[in-house]
Amino acid sequence: MTNPKKKTVVVLGAGPCGMTAAWELSNSGYDVILVEKDDGVGGLCRTNELNKHRFDLGGHRFITKSERLLNMVLDLMKEKLLVATRKSVILLRGKEFEYPLAVKNLFKNLDFFLFARAIFDYSLKSFNWDEEAEKSFEGWIKNRYGKTLYDLFFGPYTEKLWGMSPAEISSDWAVQRIAALNLRDVILHLFKLKKDKKRTFTKRFYYPEKGIGQMFDCIRDHIEGNGVKIHLKSKPIEITTKNEIVKSLTIDNDGDQRVIPCDFVVSTIPLNDFSALFVSEEEKLKLAETLKYRSLRFLNVLVDKEQLSPNTWMYVSEAKYFMTRIQEPKKRSPKSAPVGKTSVMLEIPCDVGDDIYTCSDKDLFERGMADLKRIGVDLTGKTGEYFTTFADHAYPIYSIDYKERIQEHLDIVEKYSNVITCGRQGLFRYIFMDTAMVMGLKAADYVMGKANYDEVYNPGLEKSLLEVKSIIEDLTTE
Ligand SMILES: Cc1cc2nc3c(=O)[nH]c(=O)nc-3n(C[C@H](O)[C@H](O)[C@H](O)COP(=O)(O)OP(=O)(O)OC[C@H]3O[C@@H](n4cnc5c(N)ncnc54)[C@H](O)[C@@H]3O)c2cc1C
Repeated sequence: MTNPKKKTVVVLGAGPCGMTAAWELSNSGYDVILVEKDDGVGGLCRTNELNKHRFDLGGHRFITKSERLLNMVLDLMKEKLLVATRKSVILLRGKEFEYPLAVKNLFKNLDFFLFARAIFDYSLKSFNWDEEAEKSFEGWIKNRYGKTLYDLFFGPYTEKLWGMSPAEISSDWAVQRIAALNLRDVILHLFKLKKDKKRTFTKRFYYPEKGIGQMFDCIRDHIEGNGVKIHLKSKPIEITTKNEIVKSLTIDNDGDQRVIPCDFVVSTIPLNDFSALFVSEEEKLKLAETLKYRSLRFLNVLVDKEQLSPNTWMYVSEAKYFMTRIQEPKKRSPKSAPVGKTSVMLEIPCDVGDDIYTCSDKDLFERGMADLKRIGVDLTGKTGEYFTTFADHAYPIYSIDYKERIQEHLDIVEKYSNVITCGRQGLFRYIFMDTAMVMGLKAADYVMGKANYDEVYNPGLEKSLLEVKSIIEDLTTE
C-alpha cells in the first residue's frame, strides 16, 4: 500500500463536512491542507460571541444515527457536550401553537369555524389525493394537511423563508423538512397517537456548552495537532489539470497567491464556485446563477432579563413580520449567556444585496424590536448591545428543476478522477450537519479507496432519519 503520508489532500471549505474529512484523513496519516474563505472554521456551524453571550448562525442541534460519527464526537467533546431539550411553538394571531401541530392544541387556539374547516379540508384530502401536485412544496403539504392548515401555517412561512411561491419549490424540501410521510402518519401525529422518533419530533439533542461552533474549534485543535495546515481568508482561484487529473491549486489570500501541488481535492465549497474553476470564461457565464441560494441575516441582541420564554424556537409565519424564527440561545446551553442575563436572536431571510441584507445594524435592530413588540415580546428598556451576522449560502433553493441543474455542474467535476465534491454546498443539498459530517468521513474513505461516489453522495441518513430512531433517543430515555 502507498504510504498515505506522502499524499497531499487539499480540502476546500472548513465547515462541518470539510473539517470532518480533514479529521479522518489526518488521523489516517495523510498530509492535509485546508482552505477556508472566512477568518475561522465551522461554516454555518460557527458560533459568535459578544460579552460572554454566544450566538450560532441560527440555533443548531446535533442529532445523528451514525454510530461512527457519534462515537468520534463523544470521544472528542466528552463532558463539553450537553443534552438539551427543545420546545418549539408557532406564534400566530397572538397565540402559541405547538409545533409539530397537534389537534387538541389547534382546537384550543383556533376559533371553532376555522378549526372545523381545517379538519374538514384535512379529511377531504383522504379522498382527493392529487398525485400531480406532489412535485411542488405547496401540493405536497396540501395533500397531507389540507388547504386551511397550509394557508395558515406552511404557505406563508415557506414563502417568507424562500422569497418565492411554494408552488415553484420542489417537494423534496418538504420531504426532508417536514417529517410526516403519509396521511396515516399525519393523523397519528396530529392526534398525538404516535410516539415518534423522527427528526422533527425529536425532543432531545446534543449541544456543546459553548455553542455549536465549539465542536469545530475542538476538531481544529485536534487536526492542527495532526499537522493539518489551515489557510484562513483564502479561496481557490485556479486549478491546473493534466489528463483529467488535478495537479495543483492556486489559492489567494488577500492578493497573496500560492500554488499547492496535490494528489487529491475534497471540495465542500458551493458547487457552482467549484465547477467554475474547471471551465472557460464563456461557460462560466452560462452556468452562473443556475444554482441559487437564499440567505439569512441574524439579529443578535443581549437582553437584561433572566429569560424570555420557555421556548427554544418560536416560528413566525405571518408575512407582516420580517423574521421567520425567534430563538433564545440560553435554551440550548446555560452558558450561552451570563447568569441572570439572556439574549435573543432573530432569523431574517433575505437575498444578498437586498434591503435587509444591506441595511445598517441599527435599522435592523429597530425593526426587529418593533416586530417583537407587535408579536407580544416587549423588550423596551431591557436590551443591551447587539450585532448582526450573515449566512449568504443558508439554503440551496430547490426549484422544480434543481436536480438537472446540479447534474450540469457534477458532469464537469466528475471528469476528474482525483476530485470529490460533497457537503451541503458541495452537492447543493438541504442536509443537516451530521449528514454533512458523515459525507466528510465518506469522502475521506473515497480518497483512501474505501468508498465509491455513491456512498459519499448518499450516505443514507436523510431518508432513513425519517424512518429510524436517532441514536440520541436511545441513549437518553425521556
Ligand atoms: C439557520 C440554520 C439552522 C440550522 N440548524 C441545524 C440544526 O439544528 N441541526 C443540523 O444538524 N443542521 C442544521 N443546519 C444545517 C447545517 O448548518 C449544515 O448542514 C452544515 O453546516 C453543512 O456543513 P458543510 O460543511 O457542508 O457546509 P457549510 O457549513 O456551509 O461550510 C462550507 C464552508 O466552505 C467555505 N467556503 C465557501 N466558499 C468558499 C471558497 N470559495 N473558498 C474557500 N472556502 C469557501 C464557507 O465559508 C464554509 O466555511 C442549519 C442551517 C441553517 C442555515
